[in-house]
Amino acid sequence: MLKINNLHKSYKMGESSLHVLKGIDLHVDKGEMVAIMGSSGSGKSTLLNIIGILDELDSGEYILDGIEIKDLNEKKAAQYRNKFLGFVFQSFNLINFKNALENVALPLYYQGLKRRERQEKAMFHLDKVGLKDWSLHLPNELSGGQKQRVAIARALASEPKLLLADEPTGALDSATSHEIMQFLQQLNNEGKTILIVTHEEDISLMCKRIVRLKDGVIMEDKKIKQNILL
Ligand code: ADP
Ligand code: MG
Repeated sequence: MLKINNLHKSYKMGESSLHVLKGIDLHVDKGEMVAIMGSSGSGKSTLLNIIGILDELDSGEYILDGIEIKDLNEKKAAQYRNKFLGFVFQSFNLINFKNALENVALPLYYQGLKRRERQEKAMFHLDKVGLKDWSLHLPNELSGGQKQRVAIARALASEPKLLLADEPTGALDSATSHEIMQFLQQLNNEGKTILIVTHEEDISLMCKRIVRLKDGVIMEDKKIKQNILL
């Protein structure tokens, strides 16, 4: 699914530069559920953004589904993002003046689907996350957990091969966090490949593999016995 070899990334800071990722090697197979762990500032989001083609690497190699991701123009990058990737963020990133259904349907517009198809597909995915009856509600009428479900439905609507989640439970209480993780486990059981950035130990234990970052280096990468939520 994805292969990263000797990846380096620095940010320019005026005269100096900050070396954030220092030779990352990461291979992820289809069907994996991987937690990327590490304290704040360890480079987790930077790595996830490069994997998500939202940012570019400086050196090294990144191959996604057999395609080398390198020097893409904005159009190609957007095309690969749409085709391969779904994103979920800590802050949900929903559009406040659009209802749940419209939020889920929006990315389908960019895939060129007709209005009717967009609505049907969006409704199917809202139903899948248990929010069929909330389709006409605006984000500010939904709880945090419901907002994250809408965001997950939106990510899934374009049928991505890889789901990327950056601290998806970071803004939720622990009961709601577990509910969201349970849903992600269910998706993974259906075959979806999922990468989750988190700094919470209990969240990482609900994945099948933990990759631990420290100061831009992978300190540990191990498969674990998944803590399954019933
Ligand atoms: P994490 O997600 O693990 O908290 P990040 O990947 O967000 O860490 O950040 C790693 C380091 O890179 C931090 O020191 C952060 O301040 C820095 N950083 C992140 N994004 C940028 C940017 N766009 N420009 C400059 N520095 C950045
Ligand atoms: Mg981060």
